[in-house]
Amino acid sequence: MDQLMPNWLRQRAELTPDRLAVITENEQVTFKQLYINVQKRVGLLSLYGVEKGQHIAILMKNSMDMIETIHAVLSLGAVAVMLNTRLTNQELMWQLLDVEAFHVICHDEFKHKIQDVHHVKIIVGEEVNQELTHTTPKLHEVDYSTNQVATIMYTSGTTGHPKGVLQTFENHWSSAVGSALNLGLQSNDRWLLAVPLFHISGLSILIRSVIYGMGIVLHERFDASKMNQAIIHNNVTIVSVVTTMLKQMLDNLDKQQYPSTLRCILAGGGPVPKSILEDCQSRNIPVYQTYGMTETASQVVTLTPEHSMSKIGSAGKPLFPCQIKIVKDGKECSPNEEGEILVKGPNITKGYWKREEATNKAIQDGWLHTGDQGYKDDEGFLFVLDRRSDLIISGGENVYPAEIEAVLLSHPKIKDAGVVGVEDNKWGQSPHAFIVTREDISIFELEQFCKSRLASYKIPKNFSFLDELPRNAANKLLRRELKGRMNKGMKQ
Ligand code: ATP
Ligand code: MG
Repeated sequence: MDQLMPNWLRQRAELTPDRLAVITENEQVTFKQLYINVQKRVGLLSLYGVEKGQHIAILMKNSMDMIETIHAVLSLGAVAVMLNTRLTNQELMWQLLDVEAFHVICHDEFKHKIQDVHHVKIIVGEEVNQELTHTTPKLHEVDYSTNQVATIMYTSGTTGHPKGVLQTFENHWSSAVGSALNLGLQSNDRWLLAVPLFHISGLSILIRSVIYGMGIVLHERFDASKMNQAIIHNNVTIVSVVTTMLKQMLDNLDKQQYPSTLRCILAGGGPVPKSILEDCQSRNIPVYQTYGMTETASQVVTLTPEHSMSKIGSAGKPLFPCQIKIVKDGKECSPNEEGEILVKGPNITKGYWKREEATNKAIQDGWLHTGDQGYKDDEGFLFVLDRRSDLIISGGENVYPAEIEAVLLSHPKIKDAGVVGVEDNKWGQSPHAFIVTREDISIFELEQFCKSRLASYKIPKNFSFLDELPRNAANKLLRRELKGRMNKGMKQ
């Protein structure tokens, strides 16, 4: 049943008006100030014609403006469509048309990316900021109803065309509450947000901030040195990262140490190589692996603090409101048996925008079929192996590209690595590695390195050297493009 909740920002501003809400490089605001600024934006956006139920696309970089815009759009009862600023003009056009956006609110620097879209009105940041100075605040923002779609966010498009995921207020609410029940909540908590706000990893921090009454330290973009400085000097207690960020932060940290105030580095979005986790363990750095996706409004499985060291490599157990099961050929797997990861819970999307078939395929009896492969150990801890579509079956054995990539990446001369399966007359399929090197390395050296770390059937049969690996706007490796290159190469 649909239930009403108070407007989150108004409620927070009433409960703890003087707490710091957002800290950026140049300014900081309390929840009360943020609320007043958002009221002004609500007033202005309604003058621009933004109304309840409309799809309003947001194409902005991490900034106070963007935070205010998101709150303002939600406060008007409109749906915020979060666009990735790294997408090409063509990709953005496709998403704008697909989502039937009414307006796009963008920073000036991104206007050129969308000028060809005729039917949508483009509201540019600089204009808005000028007009805000003489706008009267609008006081009647809407309350939130649980079933209402708050945001639409496209998946990263790693496996194909991205799909618009419908995220309701209830999805976001239960995600925030589930995370707090796992990590705990301290009155001094401050979350460092340097991942994009247009991704669920970033947006979920903004939502936790307003629900918990917790401050955010907001960075416009990732910079390892700035992040380490913020952790060391800005009383950050929690930070969200993906593997490449963590790697650079550790390099930059060198012999320095994080203060004991830092209680959690939440690492997700993709596999985290065990070598990095072990490095953190030996340096007493509290890293927790987490597993989630756009469809689960952020985390769905996360390691609990007491297991972060003993269950290294595991993504953990489900958050309190969630459940997971591993299924193969329609049957639930026994412990340690590999299969597809299915997840269930109030944070799971009700479906994809205008994709009935894809929705029905992905969500059955309330269980979301993630397309990821993994297993639960005999104590119920989840180990995520890889995407099912990327699985290589070689001589009847399952080979996960992510495992081979992690081994290659642990070699100091290797900067980046991607592995795909190629046809093999003898084994059916065999792994082929694409690598980007820091300095020259021979194939013999690579094979020797792999031999001591991988079973023989997992050792790549061939290596190709590239200057760069294909990655999407979310910086995720596009293995399908690597496969495409192989096929093209083989035809020639
Ligand atoms: P698309 O669905 O369009 O192909 P995508 O799945 O990359 O794109 P996201 O929702 O951004 O889009 O990413 C979620 C996916 O990221 C998960 O399904 C999983 O494959 C991967 N992932 C997230 N966390 C982890 C983790 N801890 N370990 C391994 N993989 C992870
Ligand atoms: Mg996906």
